[in-house]
Amino acid sequence: MAKPKVAFYWNASCGGCEEAVIDLAEDILMVADAVEIVLWPVALDFKRKDVEALKDGEIAVAFLNGAIRTSEQEDWSKLLRKKSGLIVAFGSCAHLGGIPGLANFSDRAGVFDAAYLSAVSNDNPDGVTPQTETKVPEGELELPEVWDTVHALDQVIDVDYYLPGCAPPPDLILDAIKAILAGELPPKGSVLAPDKSLCDTCDRNDSKPDKIELSELKRPHETFMDPEKCFLAEGVICMGPATRSGCGERCINANMPCRGCFGPTREVKDQGAKMLSALASLLDIEDPEQMEKIADSIPDLAGLSYMYSLPSSLLTRKQKR
Ligand code: SF4
Ligand code: SF4
Repeated sequence: MAKPKVAFYWNASCGGCEEAVIDLAEDILMVADAVEIVLWPVALDFKRKDVEALKDGEIAVAFLNGAIRTSEQEDWSKLLRKKSGLIVAFGSCAHLGGIPGLANFSDRAGVFDAAYLSAVSNDNPDGVTPQTETKVPEGELELPEVWDTVHALDQVIDVDYYLPGCAPPPDLILDAIKAILAGELPPKGSVLAPDKSLCDTCDRNDSKPDKIELSELKRPHETFMDPEKCFLAEGVICMGPATRSGCGERCINANMPCRGCFGPTREVKDQGAKMLSALASLLDIEDPEQMEKIADSIPDLAGLSYMYSLPSSLLTRKQKR
């Protein structure tokens, strides 16, 4: 019997999600035995024409990681949507926009300025920035167009399932692959991770006092972080109350607060707003000036609260490209 065809593709991301597939270790042999991989640019030499030659829907499932910020990424995502029965948004950037999505606090001109013009490490006297067409003696070079706005995958194509995390942990990846192979999937649109908050599964939850009243916030390097105690109770921002569980408390176990890469649980519409509201309820401060001072003590509170979720938050913008 023919094996189900599977594709992996990489849009705007760091490559960590590709590592996560390799992290399946010996289980990757089980996967390789059970499926036929027809696209995996980071590991195998398939070309676009190989995918174009497949029938529509012929790929059983395509795992797409990364946000969408260029015309080429949109184009590939649409091609894979057409050729695939199921699309899984793989990892935080495809799921919610992720770290690349923080660029939505600026726009293309701002990003180009920071990356190519004003960074102190740049040596770019002619102020060259990426162009879609560039004439060189050998001919004309083409680059994809970079958009003003970074998108989560489901803002560009229809997505069937979401595997959260930066990167998704191997046990969740394997569970998802097994469920797909067995045809035992939850309803379309599900996030393939528990629908509980990280605080619900965190061992440090028991150390939380009944009422937390904070008068200052501290950054991780500014304090001793007791490995037994809840970060929030110690005045260190931890995104646990606004974040879905399922990662195995990876950061907490390394004595670092959660930064929210699993995104919110189902009922939360905006992870950053949820976190800010949780934080505000813990601050024992009435005076607006003191409140401002405490907010200023965290250098980028908006960036911290929306670290992984800005493109899919309620802070959307009219500019779609
Ligand atoms: S706030 Fe962080 S450390 Fe505290 S219980 Fe929640 S996840 Fe654990
Ligand atoms: S603790 Fe938070 S930031 Fe760290 S892996 Fe888990 S969900 Fe992601």
